[in-house]
Amino acid sequence: MQFNSEDRVLISSRALKRLGAASPDIALSVLDGLPGMVAFWNRDLRNVVANKAYVEWFGRSPEEMVGMHIREVLGEDVYTLNLPFMLQALAGKEQLFDRTLVDQHGNTRHTQASYIPHRNDETGEIDGFLVLVADVTERVAAEVQVRLSVEQYRALAASVPGSFVMLFDRDLRYSIAEGEALEEFGFSSVDLEGRTIYEALPRWLAVELEKRYLAALAGERSEWERVRGDKIFRLMSAPVSDRDGEIFAGMVIAQDVTFRRRTDAINAALGEISNAVARQATTESISDLIATNLREIFRSDTAAVVHFIDRDYARIISMSPSRPENIPDELHWRGRESSVTAQVARTSRPALALYTEPKDSYVAAMQADGLVAGAAAPIYHDGELWGAITLNSKDVNRLNEGSLQELAKFADLLQVALENFKALSTLLDQALADPLTGLINRRGLDLRLEKQFKLELYPGQSISIVTIDLDHFKQINDDFGHHAGDRVLRELAALMTSIIRANELVARIGGEEFLWILPDTSTQQAFCAAERLRVAIEGHDFGLSRPVTASIGIATTTQVRNLSDVIIQSDQALYEAKRSGRNRVVVLDAAQGE
Ligand code: GH3
Ligand code: MG
Ligand code: MG
Repeated sequence: MQFNSEDRVLISSRALKRLGAASPDIALSVLDGLPGMVAFWNRDLRNVVANKAYVEWFGRSPEEMVGMHIREVLGEDVYTLNLPFMLQALAGKEQLFDRTLVDQHGNTRHTQASYIPHRNDETGEIDGFLVLVADVTERVAAEVQVRLSVEQYRALAASVPGSFVMLFDRDLRYSIAEGEALEEFGFSSVDLEGRTIYEALPRWLAVELEKRYLAALAGERSEWERVRGDKIFRLMSAPVSDRDGEIFAGMVIAQDVTFRRRTDAINAALGEISNAVARQATTESISDLIATNLREIFRSDTAAVVHFIDRDYARIISMSPSRPENIPDELHWRGRESSVTAQVARTSRPALALYTEPKDSYVAAMQADGLVAGAAAPIYHDGELWGAITLNSKDVNRLNEGSLQELAKFADLLQVALENFKALSTLLDQALADPLTGLINRRGLDLRLEKQFKLELYPGQSISIVTIDLDHFKQINDDFGHHAGDRVLRELAALMTSIIRANELVARIGGEEFLWILPDTSTQQAFCAAERLRVAIEGHDFGLSRPVTASIGIATTTQVRNLSDVIIQSDQALYEAKRSGRNRVVVLDAAQGE
């Protein structure tokens, strides 16, 4: 079951044009007749049309899928794995990749997926992408049962780079051993051909392989992996039969899968990172995620995300393993140092270096840590050089031109992932902001409280909540007009923003009512802060012929769980401040009432 090139042309041109057009039924019947899943997703990753194959795989009918988000159809895991491919497709690049899926009946299937970007005929912009998924389980199975002549095997092995093919008979004697990858395993054709595994291989290896080879001769296929230097090989043994189906030999195929494994790992990492960005995780936690993944993917000894302040000066945002206390998080190379990071800052291009000669203090420091090779690639933000991702290794062979290319590719994809969600997070920010003052609104506050403070409050730490309400604001509107009232609110927001500290939050939760969150602040400290604000408001010239005043209520807690109760308490304190004469700060002591 596979799409041939005719299917592809048919789907991407004729059928797709009809999708939004007059006769979608025709398009659907064409799609339903195709071997595999076919669907079209728009830029918001929502379904426009799908064929019936989705019923068999995911238990979803085309009708119910319309408008559904792709995450909901694929499930979280597959969605995360496939997300980088979606982003690439939306960036205009056709994607082709393998994916192992478990269908709704629990059967594991090997699939090949294509994501084809689709351009809107009128605007020329990419308005979505077409997905084609073909089941290649049968193809994978068929691959090992091919009946080829001996010469064909030899030709096959010689033609595939990074592989080898071996054929052995019933005595476990190699009749063919061919392919450039044999060398990686320390063998040559001459060493192996005509010899049995017991004669040609070290004893431990012969013992291990004997089981697999005998199984192949008995009709069973097996797969395993070997790491050689910086390469990963996938090996497979399988039976070979003649025209009558009689097994007469076994074969072993080895394939260099380093690149593929790395690509898979890169895509999995990008999926994870994109998700973190979409969840609006902090910049620090996103860059931690990047550094950890980089080190794993490239098997380097250190990895870092670095932000360039200027050409000579940078800050390490994240490092894996974490940066030791005695190492400063700032890099200052004054244009002389030879580090790969400095090279990226100067040239804006990926850089690779071996720290072999003691050129300068940087190289000396690297050598002292046993690090002998480095690689770095630039990261752009809003079209400007923002920083670099950097790797260092103790093994000279680990970082080479090949890994540098992949590192640069990773940096590119990272940008796509980050940018794609920038628009989204800007939108979210807008929904959470108050247009008049620019402060966050109540919804924004709730989200921030949930994310930030609940996580960061330690046992025994107290958090204070301050509610602020302008006095007789209605009168101000009545006396000076609504515009003057608006200006007072804007100026008040600016005043509060200038007073609050970096870890504090202020939100506009009603017309002339504001909430001020002070983490790690006792009642006493909160009272002082609130009193300072009250005096500042009273003393501020709002351009009216009289002062503006505010009433303020405070409540404090050490129990993060009931923040909403504390907000109510601070509102009660505010009410008390109003009742007892306005322009004052009242603390509600949870134990004693007031
Ligand atoms: P108190 O001292 O008891 O708080 O009296 P107050 O007049 O401040 O309180 P009240 O709740 O009676 O009135 C609030 C007023 O705030 C009513 C409303 O017209 C005004 N207001 C609410 N939102 C805005 C806004 O965005 N701009 C302007 N100019 N006025 C607003
Ligand atoms: Mg008021
Ligand atoms: Mg009010």
